[in-house]
Amino acid sequence: MAAEKRRTGNNGDTAGSVCRECPAPCCRDITMLITRPRTRTEINEIAQYLHFDTATVFIRNGKWYLTFAGTCIYLSRDNLCRKYTTRPARCRRHNPPDCERFAPWYDMLISTPEEFEEYLRSAGRRKRSETAVKRRIPR
Ligand code: SF4
Ligand code: SF4
Repeated sequence: MAAEKRRTGNNGDTAGSVCRECPAPCCRDITMLITRPRTRTEINEIAQYLHFDTATVFIRNGKWYLTFAGTCIYLSRDNLCRKYTTRPARCRRHNPPDCERFAPWYDMLISTPEEFEEYLRSAGRRKRSETAVKRRIPR
């Protein structure tokens, strides 16, 4: 499981006042890139993460991510980064307008094990129907 932290250049130099006026949702969760689950064991593992009300899974551009809600200990009460000059590289790369304040950051959001099962069922139905259409196309 590769880790990818999706974070901000909160009150960033490229952002100017945009970040300063923002409640910094990007500093209130931690996101990891995960592999798309293929086996029942991998599916069960992700379903178990979703038992926690702090966990969500989202899919964006075909990639899967696991997110845990929580506030960075370096976020100040006025929503500014208290270690701005030494903030992590991923925080430096995360800047508006490519951030959650301006656009949805997911194509599909999954918050509970039930939503996950429903997603897998409909993905399975879509795949079966695409396979059936391909079989019907004359060669
Ligand atoms: S969500 Fe966007 S605008 Fe808000 S602090 Fe983070 S990077 Fe800046
Ligand atoms: S280090 Fe700073 S920019 Fe990075 S998540 Fe924490 S408060 Fe936000």
